[in-house]
Amino acid sequence: MAVHRDDLIGGFRALQLGSKPVIVHSSLKSFGEVDGGAETVVSALLATFDSVIAPTFTYKTMLTPLTGPADNAITYGSGTDQNRMAEFYTPGMPADPLMGIIPETLRRLPNARRSRHPILSFAGINADAAIASQSMDDPFAPIARLAEQDGWVLLLGVNHMVDTSIHYAEKLAGRRQFIRWALTPQGVRECPFWPGCSFGFDAIAPDLARHTRSVVIGTAYTQAVELKILFEAVIARIKKDPLALLCQREDCERCNTIRMIR
Ligand SMILES: [Zn+2]
Repeated sequence: MAVHRDDLIGGFRALQLGSKPVIVHSSLKSFGEVDGGAETVVSALLATFDSVIAPTFTYKTMLTPLTGPADNAITYGSGTDQNRMAEFYTPGMPADPLMGIIPETLRRLPNARRSRHPILSFAGINADAAIASQSMDDPFAPIARLAEQDGWVLLLGVNHMVDTSIHYAEKLAGRRQFIRWALTPQGVRECPFWPGCSFGFDAIAPDLARHTRSVVIGTAYTQAVELKILFEAVIARIKKDPLALLCQREDCERCNTIRMIR
């Protein structure tokens, strides 16, 4: 049974978020078959929520320099092949396929606005102030603005491993940030406040269980958590255990650096 626009709108409404703005992370495949695909999901989101933003990150602009600051969770000089393939950031560059097709579909709408970070851009509809708030020194400012407006995170068939807002909460908790570099038409730009790794983020789920609203749409488990509550939960967890939410992959440079330098 294909999922239709009305099923999506019914599911989103069942979360009872009112007109609060949302940041969406998504897997189109998780719904099963959707009549009209990503366009239908985006259309249903916009029919339900006044403001919608999504990350439209562009990792293919990234460069690895030969040298740089210490304790930066990067192997300098290791990116020769990747550097050769790096592309200049342009405002029309498609979102990385890792983000899923839904953010890219949102970005391509004529009334969408996109922020200008060469790696960590966000696209939004009816969220101009949030989108405009981003800067190189505050890449996750759009999430902070959404939180001020009592915004919510919406996870469509994905879990907290892709929940970008947790990166912002980690920064609020004082966790180490890194530096990365991007290729732009104006030259190589330094991108400070690069976040840690998100592989361990779903460990926050039990802390949020009481505050999580959920609904199954098609075959997609859909969850919503208020941003302010998410921030509080992440900060509390890291205060209690400075190594919380790190991943267990032995070769994870960012998680290992945080363990080493804390
Ligand atoms: Zn990790």
